[in-house]
Amino acid sequence: MAGRRIEIRGTVQGVGFRPWVYRVAHRAGLVGRVRNDPRGVTIEAFASERVLDRFIEQLQDDAPPSARVVDLRSYPIPDEDLEGFTIESSDAVGDKALSIPPDLATCPDCEAEILDPNDRRYGYAFTNCTTCGPRFTIATGIPYDRAATTMAPFDMCAACRREYADMEDRRFHAQPNACPECGPTLSFVVLRAEDAPKTDPLANASELLKRGAVVAVKGLGGFHLACDATNAGAVRMLRERKRRDEKPFAVMVRDLGAAQALAEISVEEAQLLTAPERPIVLVRKRSDAAVAPEVCPETPLLGLFLPYTPLHHLLLGAVGIPLVMTSANVSDEPICKDNEEARRRLDGIADALLLHDREIAMRCDDSVVRVIAGTPTLMRRSRGFVPRPFMLEKPVSRPVLACGAHLKNTFCLAAGDTAYFGPHIGDLETLGALEFFEDAIERMQTILSIRPEVIAHDLHPGYLSTRYALTRKGVDRVGVQHHHAHVVSAIADHGGYDGPVLGVAFDGTGFGEDGTSWGSEFLLCFPGRFERLATFRPVRLPGGDLAMREVWRIAYALLYDAFDGDPPVDTLPLFRNIPKESIEVVAQMIERKLNAPLGRGVGRYFDAFGALVLSRAISTYEGQVAIAWDFASEDGVDDSYPFEIDPRRTPMEVDLRPAVRAAVADMGSEVPRGRISARFHNTIVGVTVRVVEALLANREPVPVALTGGVFQNARLCQGIEKKLSNKYKVLRHREVPPGDGGIALGQALIADAFLGDKG
Ligand SMILES: [Zn+2]
Ligand SMILES: [Zn+2]
Ligand SMILES: [Zn+2]
Repeated sequence: MAGRRIEIRGTVQGVGFRPWVYRVAHRAGLVGRVRNDPRGVTIEAFASERVLDRFIEQLQDDAPPSARVVDLRSYPIPDEDLEGFTIESSDAVGDKALSIPPDLATCPDCEAEILDPNDRRYGYAFTNCTTCGPRFTIATGIPYDRAATTMAPFDMCAACRREYADMEDRRFHAQPNACPECGPTLSFVVLRAEDAPKTDPLANASELLKRGAVVAVKGLGGFHLACDATNAGAVRMLRERKRRDEKPFAVMVRDLGAAQALAEISVEEAQLLTAPERPIVLVRKRSDAAVAPEVCPETPLLGLFLPYTPLHHLLLGAVGIPLVMTSANVSDEPICKDNEEARRRLDGIADALLLHDREIAMRCDDSVVRVIAGTPTLMRRSRGFVPRPFMLEKPVSRPVLACGAHLKNTFCLAAGDTAYFGPHIGDLETLGALEFFEDAIERMQTILSIRPEVIAHDLHPGYLSTRYALTRKGVDRVGVQHHHAHVVSAIADHGGYDGPVLGVAFDGTGFGEDGTSWGSEFLLCFPGRFERLATFRPVRLPGGDLAMREVWRIAYALLYDAFDGDPPVDTLPLFRNIPKESIEVVAQMIERKLNAPLGRGVGRYFDAFGALVLSRAISTYEGQVAIAWDFASEDGVDDSYPFEIDPRRTPMEVDLRPAVRAAVADMGSEVPRGRISARFHNTIVGVTVRVVEALLANREPVPVALTGGVFQNARLCQGIEKKLSNKYKVLRHREVPPGDGGIALGQALIADAFLGDKG
């Protein structure tokens, strides 16, 4: 006989992990014990070496679907004379989970129960078990236990209590366990529908949806606004009421088959759609997809997800049509979460509300993922993923809070060898968003028991996240350069790396160390510092922020630069519908360098070329024209445009003016725009590869990290990776978003390393 202590880290509490260990141990004939500890689960097991090895293999390979083992270590311990295998209470808090798992989509067993007329949970919208249901969004404190959730007001009935206490039951210690006898209930509130149906809440909601109304549906981490995705009028009305011009809406469909009817779904995409995290998956829409074109105007990508709560299953079952499900908010406000708040804020947007009486403790928007060149990449990391831990290769020396960016904000808390992203906060443009940000930080600090001693923030003095950081007292504050943070986030996504990494950070904008806007950066990064080795020639942004929307301004500035102050405006269709006076004003701004700051963001080149070649003057949301430009590309084009690199400058500077002139010449000779787009993309790939090779020519090879919002462009990722990966290890984003939603992790690690370097 031998003994082992097995320490398991990851999402292993509150997901039925200990009862599962118990069953596996039983089957294997092991003796010993299992318990929750502050960092995960610890097992002490005794058997022959061979049986123990086999047991550990099983722990790694077939954990319950909702558990996620990120680290497993085992150590020999002296043999003990025990009988049987037991689930033990941990001394400090009794038999409770010390960490909180993310929210988990309804499991197949629970789904079967709500559809079975003979089951006591038939049609019950709050059915859950240890492998599924709400977690993070109902937690009000720690340890994770019913009393510290918004299920506390609901007393379990005798039948539920029996399940909860029975180790052999699927609902053993399922904290939100409930049934129609004892759990939350639905209700229905009419805001503006005339002659609203009066049966039961679910039937009312589905009846109104079928009639083309907008119904707000209370979900896990907030409200959705739902409408019939096949009804153009309904979708248009939702757009108008929500003041959301053209940004795509997500669509919820019943199952994988229904998803396949709307989009081309790869194997990886099917796995993501059905995973317990249940993110929105961006997939390629079928040309004959039965959804209104207003759902996702222009883009070939459609955001699809499958139901993740029993309420979703029941609602889709009742309406029988795909539903638009978009976060219930107005413009950039945070998602609605409380019943009263929804009544107030959604008046004028929704016709009715489908409510329930289980409170949402923590707002948590849907996560968004896209398979980019074969790699699932999180675009927005929130529900289903938060608060899943990231294991750090090198522990932080003191607890850190990193405040993130200004747009697509998320923050990050790190302590010891673990880091946690907070939920997606969004753009910190409104008071509501700022309140959500501050409140979410407070709550996460509480449920993770982390008291930050170090605060990391962006260098941009205007970011509200920076301003918040500056108000925190009694801490060490570290300002972190935006693109440095992007690169270190990409590195951390691959478990961390001690030596230097060459980071290619391409995005729209980020505050540089010289006070100008960066965004086309080649940075040689070390843990606490970086060297800026190359960048692109900057473009003027006439009107500052206005140029992000009126992208024709950037196109004009690019032409002005490429044609030495004499842009061939008359020959280009883009400028035909723009008033002469506006063009004149922009020309003046550039000439006099007035309100026309320089920006180096690669994203701006995508905006400008897209505007120019596609004749698109306006981008109604960030990246709209750049995305259209990406999807305009023709396949099978290999050539590219000329560019110059000035190696005498420090940092080295890439000059794309020759490419601008060549693209204009192509337009003049009526080269199809798809080919121009492909040539442009090939050019950016070629530039990147050439610069990387030049920079690394006389060095030991180092890994190359591709990061920043521009790397949501699959064509670019694939092109660069293909050309670099035979020489260098290429690091691409996976679980940490490549855009600004991912920088907080990098900020935290840089701040820690920086303070460590100081002493
Ligand atoms: Zn379940
Ligand atoms: Zn019950
Ligand atoms: Zn950025």
